[in-house]
Amino acid sequence: MTARVLVVDDIPANVKLLEAKLGAEYFEVVTAGSGPEALSVIEAEKPDIVLLDVMMPGMDGFEVCRRIKSNPASAHVPVVMVTALDQVSDRVQGLEAGADDFLTKPVNDVALFARVRSLVRLKTMVDELRLRQATGETMGLVEGSENILTEQPGRGRILIVEDRDQSAQRIAETLGRDHDVEIVPQTTEAAVRAKGGDYDLVIASLSLDRQDGLRFCATLRSLEPTRQTPILAIVDEGDVKRLVRALDIGVTDYLMRPVERSELVARVQTQLRRKRYSDRLRHSLQLSLEMAITDQLTGLFNRRYMSRHLNTLIANANAMGKPVSFLILDIDFFKQVNDTYGHDVGDEVLREFANRISANVRGIDLACRYGGEEFVVVMPDTDLNFAYMVAERLRQAVADAPFRISADPGQLPVTISVGVTASEGSGDTADALLKRADQALYRAKRDGRNRVVADAA
Ligand code: GH3
Ligand code: MG
Ligand code: MG
Repeated sequence: MTARVLVVDDIPANVKLLEAKLGAEYFEVVTAGSGPEALSVIEAEKPDIVLLDVMMPGMDGFEVCRRIKSNPASAHVPVVMVTALDQVSDRVQGLEAGADDFLTKPVNDVALFARVRSLVRLKTMVDELRLRQATGETMGLVEGSENILTEQPGRGRILIVEDRDQSAQRIAETLGRDHDVEIVPQTTEAAVRAKGGDYDLVIASLSLDRQDGLRFCATLRSLEPTRQTPILAIVDEGDVKRLVRALDIGVTDYLMRPVERSELVARVQTQLRRKRYSDRLRHSLQLSLEMAITDQLTGLFNRRYMSRHLNTLIANANAMGKPVSFLILDIDFFKQVNDTYGHDVGDEVLREFANRISANVRGIDLACRYGGEEFVVVMPDTDLNFAYMVAERLRQAVADAPFRISADPGQLPVTISVGVTASEGSGDTADALLKRADQALYRAKRDGRNRVVADAA
């Protein structure tokens, strides 16, 4: 994996050193010698990760980090603080400024590369989601998302996998006030729970007695329901080898023993915040997909979706020698509804019509708004006789009870005409089917409306 890394340090020798190390690993390196310069390089070069010196004259690393994280355009870019300081309080200050990790100078190369790779991998996934969000926005399907990476993430559901009782209790105590925590000492049991539990975070010890913590993390990554669940690993002090393995497996973050309370709290907050962010992007993607195939007025499928799906359905039906039936339903004299009561009441009638259609077709039938006041129902595995019966039932469902409207006199009689056709396992096409149904509808209108006409091919 390659990535563009921004190295920020006020001492040129430090920049050169990191640049050389990263360059040798085939990372693309850009550099900055001060906080303000870093901010403008981020805007211009869009790095995948920032390695940020803490102590710099003028604007220090904490402030630079805060600015990166409060700007919606750069908040998702991971920041690793690189510092000579090794006080817990400094680490916590960095994490609270929004930093994703902390590396102490002199930097351990193996840990550095593993961390950069793991953070870049996480970013790649978020980038993809951001891209889809942007597409959804330009298509007018979803609204722009605010920068929720700076918001407090709220209560999280956390699973702690740790067999050292004292350590587990300490973690649970520290997190228990703000989150819902569960402790499970057994990895097999933990995997089962994680799969069904919808956790926001799993905290897993990598130094379990007679159990393989790394394998447990790998299992979570391979199971569909937990693939995206953040994992915070707990590593024995100095166990760089296992840490590097863990990061390569896909662990999201780690803590070294002895676990420092404030650092634990800060890292948990970071993980939860990121989880909320990608959850929201994923949700909005789901929403935009639904909107792309749904008619906004009625909630039925739209024409675009129906046309696509009809081709697939017919091809399948033809291959299996099964029938597909097709109805076109059109409201009679609908123009008069608009002319008499206004467009809004017309919309009410369309919505009610859609409801009555939905209530009278089966789950496998595809109801769709085909255009203005024309609706279509596609019925797989259904022959012409049965389709005619459904059409007649729909016609009655409309004609038998007047539609409620918001204008006087509060209700309105409505009738529809329906054209029916079926493809009886022949080499029929979607276009041919549509045309035949349309002709049947035309005859229903011509013969007096409020009726069903079937096209007997
Ligand atoms: P017919 O019995 O022959 O079907 O007569 P009709 O008046 O229903 O047919 P026509 O196709 O001439 O009129 C359809 C009307 O539907 C015209 C248009 O103003 C109206 N319409 C189309 N889309 C919408 C919509 O989204 N909302 C509302 N309120 N009216 C719509
Ligand atoms: Mg009409
Ligand atoms: Mg019409």
